[in-house]
Amino acid sequence: MAGEPQDDCLFCKIVGGHVPATIVRETDTTVAFRDINPQAPTHILIIPKAHHADAAALATAEPLLAADVLREAQAVADEEKLESYRIVFNTGTGAGQTVFHAHAHLLGGRGMQWPPG
Ligand code: 5GP
Ligand code: ZN
Repeated sequence: MAGEPQDDCLFCKIVGGHVPATIVRETDTTVAFRDINPQAPTHILIIPKAHHADAAALATAEPLLAADVLREAQAVADEEKLESYRIVFNTGTGAGQTVFHAHAHLLGGRGMQWPPG
């Protein structure tokens, strides 16, 4: 069922405390933790606690968790004192998504190129 924890999902295991992570913020509906393979000086993942496979599923989730994730991304950016940053939702394998539990990447602390690779 949408939103229920999935036994085979890495990020559900982090939410459940079964896989360790460096958690920087937590709310009733979200967790933010440092990416294990950072692509910038600050690279933090913000996820809904509820399992939704990708940003497309998150967009239509009830209650509206997408707003919670974005609010927390901004809160982390403030805590990390980032003036410029990038928020990325890789959606689908062709876009580089490898973990199918929706997550926002918050990247900052270095200059960014456009367009992204
Ligand atoms: P995606 O490629 O799906 O957009 O992003 C998945 C992210 O999860 C990658 O940036 C990857 O480094 C990160 N990641 C994968 N396994 C782990 C883990 O066990 N712990 C943490 N903290 N991050 C992980
Ligand atoms: Zn999950």
